[in-house]
Amino acid sequence: MKVLLAENAGYCFGVKRAVELAIKTAQDNDNKVYTLGPLIHNNSAVDMLKEKNVFSVDDINNVEGNNIIIRSHGVGKDIYDYCSEKKINLNDATCPFVKKIQKIAYEMYNKGYNIIIIGDKSHPEVQGINGWCDNKAIIGKNLEEFYLIDFNKIEKYAVVVQTTMPQDTFFAVKEYLISLGLTLEFYNTICFATKERQQAVLDLSKKVDAMLIVGGKHSSNTKKLAEIAKKNCDTFLIETAKDIDLEKIKTYDIIGVGAGASTPDFIINEVMDLINEL
Ligand code: SF4
Repeated sequence: MKVLLAENAGYCFGVKRAVELAIKTAQDNDNKVYTLGPLIHNNSAVDMLKEKNVFSVDDINNVEGNNIIIRSHGVGKDIYDYCSEKKINLNDATCPFVKKIQKIAYEMYNKGYNIIIIGDKSHPEVQGINGWCDNKAIIGKNLEEFYLIDFNKIEKYAVVVQTTMPQDTFFAVKEYLISLGLTLEFYNTICFATKERQQAVLDLSKKVDAMLIVGGKHSSNTKKLAEIAKKNCDTFLIETAKDIDLEKIKTYDIIGVGAGASTPDFIINEVMDLINEL
């Protein structure tokens, strides 16, 4: 049996950086450290982090000790101000791609622009960006939501986009906003990590008999990868190597393995090793 790994699989640059910073901070302090919100939506990774003294809290008031880790999604300015006031060490793992959006929002807002975020208002990255323009951003995740918003032609607008949004959505909203005759500055701030993982699964799924998609069963990114693979071959969504139906897998000649941006390398490696031994 042959097993092939998708060209892009597992942690993206921003998540890898955040995990490494959290573990290093816990080691340097030889104590528990807390991330504001979970670093990753993957049960095995969460367990691994707990073993390394990295825990998650949803409310900054629940942090014990003097260290807080900001995850790759980033946070609003109020958290930086709070930590500075309370003399809490803020270990910033905001992904540089997200940081760039926050900077645009902050600078353009202070230049008198209204900030438009093309993104999901319930997503922490979007909430964090909004926190750099006094939580006054106009937010919509698709054309339908933008159709419902009243814009003012006298105002100026700076448009940014959540890093994981599809390019098609950005261009559709851009075209619509331009058609309204508004004064606009556009910043295409989409990151390609998600798209690259999807493309890699699409390509590999055409060359194999079956695909194993490794990731959290509740992760929307992982589910999307499985949907893509399913169009071309038999596809199995697994969280860890333990979920593999070995008898079934043995019936295929070539197996492909894909994983989303929140799947740790150690889980992907366990899956690869197990299949290689069959
Ligand atoms: S998906 Fe892109 S923007 Fe988000 S953490 Fe990963 S590298 Fe950064």
